[in-house]
Amino acid sequence: MTGERTLIHQIRRMAASSTNSAVKMGIGDDCAILRLKPGFELLVTTDLCLEGVHFRRSWHPPAAVGHRCLTRGLSDIAAMGGEPLACFLSLGLPADLPPAWMNGFLRGLLVLARRYKVQLAGGDVSSALQITADIVVTGQVPSGAAVRRSGANPGDRIYVTGSLGGSAATLKQLFAGKAVKPTKSNLHFYPTPRLEVGNYLRQSRLATAMIDISDGLSVDLRHVCDESGVASILISNKVPIAKNANLELALHGGEDYELLFTAPKRAKIPSQIAGVAITQIGEIRNRRDYSSAIQILGDNGKVSPLPQRGWEHFARQR
Ligand SMILES: [Mg+2]
Repeated sequence: MTGERTLIHQIRRMAASSTNSAVKMGIGDDCAILRLKPGFELLVTTDLCLEGVHFRRSWHPPAAVGHRCLTRGLSDIAAMGGEPLACFLSLGLPADLPPAWMNGFLRGLLVLARRYKVQLAGGDVSSALQITADIVVTGQVPSGAAVRRSGANPGDRIYVTGSLGGSAATLKQLFAGKAVKPTKSNLHFYPTPRLEVGNYLRQSRLATAMIDISDGLSVDLRHVCDESGVASILISNKVPIAKNANLELALHGGEDYELLFTAPKRAKIPSQIAGVAITQIGEIRNRRDYSSAIQILGDNGKVSPLPQRGWEHFARQR
């Protein structure tokens, strides 16, 4: 790609606005050097953002694409109860991509990076047929304290942060050809990684298991059930539904980046953590009592198995 060096210089210049004291050496050598606090473990997560699959240039402003790209990684760090340190960004870019797009993308990503003190500390650039952004986010957590998916026990209550289905509802509008203003307050375009909530739940030792809802409640709860060897029951009228959404989207829509966690029945869970609403939506049960991992109690009082549908990628909807 022509101008690769210019772009790398630009990224380096812009990345200087994001800092984290754990980064001893960022962009500028063969490797970044990270310094973990003694007694801490390193968290690493990686996510791919592909044009046409995760975003469309005609729907998503470049700043929103950059914001969403970093949110995916930060949300994973939040789901472990970790503190983010540094991110690494590898880009595949079409030769005819306007520089303004790249600028907007980096600005969107770095605004979020500064907000959560995560340093852009390395990456790579190559030419590609469509925009490809691969992000690695690192974080730290006290040794042995990361909240995993595997800790849920029968009798635990299931909680979620915020409200669900809002991102999928916006996506549905976009697919229907409606013009949606990509405002900062629309969580489809600018989702918030729940780092403060994750950190609080880890520090307070309230959560027995945790995951971020990236693929949809039904799919992500299934991951917790499978890793913990348990089943679960959801109470349909307890699920917090986003303003523009419905129960179907709240259960199966993806990309809300809220947290789902479990806690013992007796644990005192605040109704808000760091200003984010916490809602109890169900209960963990013994796996052998059920034929399917997730049951749902409907308004009619009937319990039925919940299919795992989850997030359908743009590509599959075309
Ligand atoms: Mg995740």
